[in-house]
Amino acid sequence: MLSPKKHRGELPEAGEVTPDLARQAQACWAEAARQQGIDLTDFDPSASLEQRLFWAKQHGLEIGCLLARHSTKLQHSTGDQVRDNCQAAAARRIYTPSEYICVDEAVSGRKQRRDGLVRLTMILERRLATVLLVFMFSRIFRTGYRGFGFIQESVVDLGLRAISVGQGIDTADEKTWRQMTYMYGIMDEMLLTTIAQHVKSGLSGLFRLGFVVGALTIGYTGKEVEGAPLTNRGKPRRVPAVDPKVAKLIRKHFRWIARGMPLAEGHRRWVRAGGPVDPRCKTGEMSYTAYRRMLSNPRYLGVWAFGRKRNRWNARLDYTQQVEQPEDEVIIVRSDELRIVSDKRFQAVQKRLEKNKTGSRGPSSGKQPQLWDLVTDCFVCAACSTPKIDYRMYQGGAHGVGMKCKRGNLCPARVIVNRKDAVLNVCQMLGDLLRHDADLIERTVARSGDVDANQNERLLDELAQARKRERVLLRKEDDLEELLGEGTEDDRAATKRKIRATRAQRSAAHMETERIAAEIEHGPKAITPEEVRTLLNDLPNLLANSTTDDENDEDDDQIYRAADVFRRLVGGRIAVIVELRPGRKKCNVRGRFTPQILCTVAEELGNSTAITGSESTPGEQTVWLREPPRLDAIALRVHELIDIESLSFRDAAKKLREEGIKVNSGNVWYSYHRWYEMQGLTAPDLPYNNGRPRKPK
Ligand SMILES: [Zn+2]
Repeated sequence: MLSPKKHRGELPEAGEVTPDLARQAQACWAEAARQQGIDLTDFDPSASLEQRLFWAKQHGLEIGCLLARHSTKLQHSTGDQVRDNCQAAAARRIYTPSEYICVDEAVSGRKQRRDGLVRLTMILERRLATVLLVFMFSRIFRTGYRGFGFIQESVVDLGLRAISVGQGIDTADEKTWRQMTYMYGIMDEMLLTTIAQHVKSGLSGLFRLGFVVGALTIGYTGKEVEGAPLTNRGKPRRVPAVDPKVAKLIRKHFRWIARGMPLAEGHRRWVRAGGPVDPRCKTGEMSYTAYRRMLSNPRYLGVWAFGRKRNRWNARLDYTQQVEQPEDEVIIVRSDELRIVSDKRFQAVQKRLEKNKTGSRGPSSGKQPQLWDLVTDCFVCAACSTPKIDYRMYQGGAHGVGMKCKRGNLCPARVIVNRKDAVLNVCQMLGDLLRHDADLIERTVARSGDVDANQNERLLDELAQARKRERVLLRKEDDLEELLGEGTEDDRAATKRKIRATRAQRSAAHMETERIAAEIEHGPKAITPEEVRTLLNDLPNLLANSTTDDENDEDDDQIYRAADVFRRLVGGRIAVIVELRPGRKKCNVRGRFTPQILCTVAEELGNSTAITGSESTPGEQTVWLREPPRLDAIALRVHELIDIESLSFRDAAKKLREEGIKVNSGNVWYSYHRWYEMQGLTAPDLPYNNGRPRKPK
């Protein structure tokens, strides 16, 4: 007689159940069998397989094998499937010995080894069992039709029987099993175009099975599915349904764009009509990119992907991220019920979008970013920004050398500012401020750290360096990530490599910072006036040097450090003020920011806690971001000469000519009025000769 061990040994061990699960499965089966009225008095679970099979045949039971597959999507653990299958088997007077239970524990995706399936096929081919039980036919393979093929060829064609426990399909029911399997296969994959009736049951069926559709697209609302399990957050599960009012608006826009309306005009109209916007949008106003994205969304064709993304909480970033699921977890459904736009119209719009690609094509590969490529995020549009929301500027314009307001066509002060000019002008002003206030800064910063701490000086120095390096690397990482969307496939791959390298460097830098910080016993920091002086010479140079076209790969940290210093010196925000000048082609563009000189200097010296008072630091500054017209450029000087030094227009002109600016008194009069105009004020009426007595002849 064969020992159970030996008998089972003919089947591979890979793919069999664990002893623990085997015990549970047997207990489960026995319990269900008892309820079915199967006489278990002479059944011995510890007997050999052959003895148990003999017992089963004597009692008129069929012999079953089963396959359990782990599926992340169905949230149905292998153990649950095994137990469910065993119970279902007992209910049908089938005995499932644990030796004939096969398990495929999914490792993710394609490389998965199908040990359970291999083992199961052997059992079937040798006809050790006559019935196969699985949870779902369609999930035996990644694609439903292959599952169908397997059942047909490896089970039914061998004269055996298969049961899908989860779907209630039994191949013994020759009339319906194929249709049912086919229908479930469709639901698992695609199509569903056939009959509206099917679509309806298909969609809610999908939701019953726990598929999700993610955030709803504009134009759709959620309709509750009756009888479906609640979501993880305990809310009723909802299927998308067309929102007729919004759908009408969407159709109108597709028609307009298909007929040649400029995208910008379409966008403006959408916003003007108060068209809905993604509820996650912070500004409450659809952006141009979102408008384009809307026009290219295949969901309006009724093509919906289910389960493609799953929400996952990211503790580090402190928000919910959407994570792409492997392809085989995605189901594409085509539903006329969800269609808003016809194929023809949609295609026409796609053609127009294709011709109208937006955005920067990215820097040519291998080009080092310049300072003005990295600090665009500091600039915000003054016309659009409110105290609550800043609308920042983005790279744009011809060849991407400019920047423009995020609101694009909706911006009342639509203008493209050359980034290089703007950043260089700000740098020049920052350099002037640093040099001009050197004395004050030196006194303030040096005094605040005026404590005896020679002992720690070296360590503090090291810590400052380490922190700086860490911060620079973090910024670099952010900056690189910002560049990630641009350029060719190769550019992106290169950027990704850079990001990985930077990340590794940063974590090393962080460990270094921690080490030094631990070494320092929270002692007071001392900064000498010399240190401040050195740094004050250093920073303007840093800003100036980083703007040369030096291609030095070794030293590309320098550029990121400069960008970091720039950001902190301008307080992270430069409001871009556009002055439209009616009747003139060019408008004036100025930047306004509040310099953070003292904090930045102190931080650069590794003493960020030292600064308390902000005594007489330079207040808000205004700088030309674009070279102004000649007479606008001298407006401030003219204002000083006339209003502060009380010169007459004629004398002011004379003085200006002495300063090398060729103007006449008429120019000065114009420039004087321009100064008030730019401040949003009206120029006062000056008395003749600015109140001075007529010069004696
Ligand atoms: Zn704007």
